[in-house]
Amino acid sequence: MYTGISDQPVALGAERDRDTNIAGNIEPLNQARNTLEAVHLVHMGARAALVCQLTGLTKKVVGGLYPPLTGMPSPPGQVPFTDTWYLKSNQRLLHANVVWHLFQHLEQTGRSAASVLIHVYEAYLEIVDAPLLTLTRAFFVPRLVSINAWCEQACDHCDISYIGPLSHDGSICPACAEYFNHRCRSCGTAMEYHRAGRRKAVCSGCYKKQSRIRKHLKTRVTNGFP
Ligand SMILES: [Zn+2]
Ligand SMILES: [Zn+2]
Repeated sequence: MYTGISDQPVALGAERDRDTNIAGNIEPLNQARNTLEAVHLVHMGARAALVCQLTGLTKKVVGGLYPPLTGMPSPPGQVPFTDTWYLKSNQRLLHANVVWHLFQHLEQTGRSAASVLIHVYEAYLEIVDAPLLTLTRAFFVPRLVSINAWCEQACDHCDISYIGPLSHDGSICPACAEYFNHRCRSCGTAMEYHRAGRRKAVCSGCYKKQSRIRKHLKTRVTNGFP
């Protein structure tokens, strides 16, 4: 005998009960997940303010995690609010770009903000031999883009997309900037390293060649040739 129709209200009622139970269970599960993520972040060296921001846990709860987990209170200091530290070297900028690409990839996975940062930082530590960015510095990299201090741009030399501050005299990625620190920008020849004085952009051969061209053009203009 077909009883599908008469069974339906019973089935729907059971489904509703199950949904209510699931909804009732989600909150403690979220709490547990947030606490586990907080523990992970504390172990990775995050400061209490950042842990609170990412997990939504209270200052009191997060502050209480440090003594049993690290034997010390939360590390002092603030989240950076300028890019000064990152701009001190091409290596720092390169590392910031590694972190940026990892964020781009992991932010699409639907994870929580805390989980994204944990995964980004763990991947970063695996990729680089000598990490330069702390967890806090890594966290601040995408913020530099969202506050428009940095933007995504293409390098004039290698065409790779990277993030950094906008420059008025052309775009150069940190890898090319590091490469051209020791090489002629025109012919690529290795140049001698001079500790003192202004760093030269081109080698002496290219400099002479460019001077000759400039002189030649100047003479043509003086003589009335376009
Ligand atoms: Zn480049
Ligand atoms: Zn050259």
